[in-house]
Order: sequence, then structure tokens, then C-alpha cells
Amino acid sequence: MNLASIQAAENKLLLNTYERNPYLFVSGKGVYLRDENGIHYLDLLSGIGVSALGYGHPAVEQAIAHQSSRLLHTSNLFFHEGTANLALRLTEISGMDRVFFCNSGTEAWEAALKLARAHAEKARENGKRIGTKFLAMEHSFHGRTMGSVATTHKEKYRLPFAPVMPGVEFVRFNDVADLRAKFTEDVCGICIEPIQGEGGIHLVSKAFFATARELCSSTGALLLADEIQSGLGRTGKWFAYQHYGIQPDVTTLAKPIANGIPMGAMLCTESAASAFTPGMHGTTFGGGPLACAVAITVIDTMQRENVLANIEEVGGFFKSELEGLKAKHECVTDVRGMGLMLGLELNSADLAKRIAAQMMERRIIINRTSETVLRFLPPYILERKHVETAISALDELLKANTEFAGAAPAGEELHG
Ligand SMILES: *Cc1c(COP(=O)(O)O)cnc(C)c1O
Repeated sequence: MNLASIQAAENKLLLNTYERNPYLFVSGKGVYLRDENGIHYLDLLSGIGVSALGYGHPAVEQAIAHQSSRLLHTSNLFFHEGTANLALRLTEISGMDRVFFCNSGTEAWEAALKLARAHAEKARENGKRIGTKFLAMEHSFHGRTMGSVATTHKEKYRLPFAPVMPGVEFVRFNDVADLRAKFTEDVCGICIEPIQGEGGIHLVSKAFFATARELCSSTGALLLADEIQSGLGRTGKWFAYQHYGIQPDVTTLAKPIANGIPMGAMLCTESAASAFTPGMHGTTFGGGPLACAVAITVIDTMQRENVLANIEEVGGFFKSELEGLKAKHECVTDVRGMGLMLGLELNSADLAKRIAAQMMERRIIINRTSETVLRFLPPYILERKHVETAISALDELLKANTEFAGAAPAGEELHG
């Protein structure tokens, strides 16, 4: 099937949930994807922050081949060697004590929400006064299931499905006074993305994060850090919260953890974990042998090949080059992010849409989020030469677009 026939068939057969870009990829190697005509694309999005070690990484291929020839699934009724091995690595790099495995980001976040509720319930049984309410942030994104979407700020994702989970109040992100005003004994958890991804690459401020930590500690509410996009090395440290020296009670992982094999994980402290007892929560597929084997390989490869140092080095170079574009082009209003989680804000949504589409035409894959922000979530193995290619293309397009505004066709926004 070619692109046109697949498009026609999808239009008839699939739910109308995605505005796909008209490209058909058939293979990949390193930081490049190849389409059905054999054309290569430099991928600065990595499947929305998923393909961390790029495409066709030999260690990942080998882990998949090895594990798939042995065993794919047995269920959580039985033991296999992957879960504890992976949990050991995850607890070591995160400062957390225990792990729950699942299959996606939203499931990891659901587990975090349920844990906060159960933890508060247990505290009430022990005579503490603590309620069931969550504080979530404006411009947050935590996923699409009913609990996750209830803590997600954008109304378009939430309102059509009302009533979603009740008991969520939104706080102005980085507004310490608003957070203090809305925090009471009713709160069982504060929900924070240390770097808001879908919200446009906005970093939590140290003061705000520290206040959330202090407020949670004062009542026994849980500080929940969603690191589904920012975690597992994306920012140059294993977790974005490690840049702040603030330890949450719970954190969630998914996107890059198994390099494209679906997997999520919720990590938490011993005390938070004690709220769950057998049967209270679970999943059929979560923490299966294949996903665990691949995730172990991802972490071991990152450690062996010193990938965090590459993220910091190439990410730092990328950011300074983006700042160079800001200095040159008036339409660039801001540069944000850490490591290889970067955003370039433009002064118009239309322009951002046009630039993203024109980068695709130049065979460089980027993404637009939050209307005006060009987002870069490249594979961790990105090199300086790839950054140089992308920056010179952006430089030319920004220049051309300010000169001839409105000339090119517009592409569609990808939703994470
Ligand atoms: C992508 C994302 C999610 C949802 O993950 P899914 O795997 O799509 O369910 C949740 N939180 C954040 C911060 C994300 O970036």
C-alpha cells in the first residue's frame, strides 16, 4: 500500500483522533527515518520523545530478538527475572524505593493518582486530617484516561468527557502565592511536571517546586512529579527534579523507557508505597518480560555509552544555537528547556505551523506544541553536526518567512 491508499483506508476505518502529517515511514537508522521512497529524514522528535537511542540500535535489537525467542508474557501471576532487575536500576537512578510497572504514560499517572488517594485514606484511618483533592497546574498534560485528563488543564481534552474525576483544582504554574492559597488539608497530592512538555517547554521555578515540597511535607500529601516526557535522561540528568535537588514522593516514567516498546512505570517512596496492598491495583501486561528486557538494555546502554554526558553536551550546544537564532530573528520570542528537551517560541502560531511544515519538506522532523512553540525532543544520540543542519535550515526558513509571510502551505500539529 502506498501513502495515498493508506490515507484513504484510514479515513474510512479509523476513529478520527489524529491529524497525521502525510508521510509514510518504513525504517530507521540512528537519528534518521526513511520513507517509502527511500528518502531520509533527520528526526528531532523521536516519536514524541520515545526513541531515545534512535532507530535500529544494535543493543535494543538484540534485546528484543533474545527475549522474544524466549518468552513474551506470563502475567503478573508469576515471577520473571526482568521486573526486579529493572526496578533495581530505576530505584538506584531515581532515589525512590519501589516501582509499579504498566504500559503507558497515562497508566503510570493513573497509578500515581490512585496511590495519593489510597495514601490519604490510610492516613485518615490513622487519625490524620487529610482530604482527597488534587492541585494540578495550568497548562499541564498528564494523559488521556479519566483521572489523567482530569488533571490535564486544556479544556479541549477534558470538557467533552465531563464529568471527569472530581476533586481537581488548577493552580497558576509558578505562582507561589496561588499555590499557598489553594493548598489546604483537603489536598492529598500536588501534580507537577518539572518541565511542562505539551504546555510548551516551561520549567518549574525552584521557589515553586520547593514550596510544593514544603506544603506536601507539612500535611502528608504526596508530591507527584510527572517525568513521562522529561525523565530517564532527557534533560541531561536521569530525572528533571534532580536539577532542583528536590525529591518528590512519586514520579512517573514512560515515553523513552523501552525505546518504543510500550511501557510505563510509577516510582515512589517506601512510605507512599505502603498504601497499596495486593489486589488494590494491577495490570495484565505491565512489566512483561519483553518490555523489561528492553528497558534494562536502554538504561545499561545509556550508562555504558555515557549518554547523559552527550545529552548535556549536544543539548547545551543546541540551546546556545537556538539562542543565536533568537538574537538574529525578531519573530523568535523565547528559547527554553534543558538537555535535549528544547523549545523555540515564535511570535505567531501561524508562523510556527508554517516553519514546522517547511522543516518537514526539508526532511527535518520537528513538532509544534502549544500553538507557538517549536519543540525539539531528538534521540539522545544526536550529534553536533545534526544540530548544525537543523539550525541552518531554521535560520533560512525564519529569514524567508519574515520576508514572504503567508506563502507556504500549513502542516498540522502533532499531539503527544
Ligand atoms: C505523553 C505524556 C503523558 C501521557 O503518556 P501516554 O503514554 O500518551 O499515555 C503524560 N504526561 C506527560 C508529561 C507526557 O508528556
